[in-house]
Amino acid sequence: MTTESRSHQVTTREIATANGVSIRTAQRWCQQGKLSAVKMAGRWVVTVPVDLTGYSLLQMDKASELIEQGGLVATTRPGVWTAVSSDGTTTYLVMAGTCTCPAGQRGRDCYHRAAVAIVSAARRAA
Ligand SMILES: [Zn+2]
Repeated sequence: MTTESRSHQVTTREIATANGVSIRTAQRWCQQGKLSAVKMAGRWVVTVPVDLTGYSLLQMDKASELIEQGGLVATTRPGVWTAVSSDGTTTYLVMAGTCTCPAGQRGRDCYHRAAVAIVSAARRAA
């Protein structure tokens, strides 16, 4: 199942990881209204403008998990990231349009690319 989604909800941990700041800083940005954030059950939920149309909910979940666990790392080249595979044994090179993972090599939308899109949007949003 795929969804049509022009925005995505992320945690302060994802905002923190995307921007290289502490979770406290990300929480402060929420309080200061720097981010489009609402507090739900004591936790900030931040909406970032990113088009994830075509990705499944499972892929979005996996993308968020990858970001939260610090599995997506910026390289020295702008827009190029490395992502750790789900079993932790391999890393892939990810850009906005391509990914070197098995799914990406077959031209499919993989969650690594969704994660890059989310992180890029989280950076712009902050
Ligand atoms: Zn991939």
